[in-house]
Amino acid sequence: MPGFSDTPTRHAQHGRYPEAASVEDFQRNLAAVQARIAAACHRVGRAPQTVRLLPVSKTKPEASLRLAHAAGCRMLGENKAQEAHGKWQAMEDLTDLQWSVIGHLQTNKAKLVARFAAEFQALDSLRVAEALERRLQAEGRSLDVFVQVNTSGEVSKYGLPPGDVPAFLQALPAFTALRVRGLMTLALFSSEAERVRQCFVRLRTLRDRLRQSAPAGMALDELSMGMSGDFEIAIEEGATVVRVGQAIFGARPLPDSHYWPGEADAGEAS
Ligand SMILES: *Cc1c(COP(=O)(O)O)cnc(C)c1O
Repeated sequence: MPGFSDTPTRHAQHGRYPEAASVEDFQRNLAAVQARIAAACHRVGRAPQTVRLLPVSKTKPEASLRLAHAAGCRMLGENKAQEAHGKWQAMEDLTDLQWSVIGHLQTNKAKLVARFAAEFQALDSLRVAEALERRLQAEGRSLDVFVQVNTSGEVSKYGLPPGDVPAFLQALPAFTALRVRGLMTLALFSSEAERVRQCFVRLRTLRDRLRQSAPAGMALDELSMGMSGDFEIAIEEGATVVRVGQAIFGARPLPDSHYWPGEADAGEAS
């Protein structure tokens, strides 16, 4: 489709988003991101309501999260189980606030996630599925999950290789506390928009193919892909969830390599 294939990444803005320090700042940033979502949807003939914005609050202090909540955010994404659990405990008074854990999980942290999270987006091993299932059963809870796929081929990235996903999905119905919603990926962190786009195309194509063979009752409706620097491209390629941190909360003080261990080269690529 002509007209959108040259949408650039915005990785150059990383580290430049001003800190959101008031409810009004958050309202303005959320409106700006929603406008960008709507514009991207418009370019490919999608309805903006088909894209869920997940604000990502990792590294930000409780006070910022409370401002985001006051501005209307009802689900927040965090990439570390321990940090998320601590924030949940500190903000239990906000009874309508839900939590999505979007980062790699070690089995020994599964019990934390099982206690409070509504959603887990980085499922990539049966060991983690088992650990979550056991803890969720103990808590009498269930969890929406996304299977994380490595679409960039980078060894540093978490997620299953695309070829391993079909067999992985076949094993998941055994875990009755996990509700599989779809797939999640992190694209190549690069200013080369075409290579970023290919990651998103890979996830969508995989999902479309898996829909034929997925276990009964597994809908695979969701594609979680795109962040502050590339969510417009992700939407053009079918994202139903975009995970946006810095464009809403403001820049993080340290480069992404600090938060995503093993991605020390990511900055150079942009
Ligand atoms: C931090 C993070 C994001 C959001 O990145 P921003 O650049 O802050 O928009 C998205 N997905 C995952 C898995 C993350 O850890």
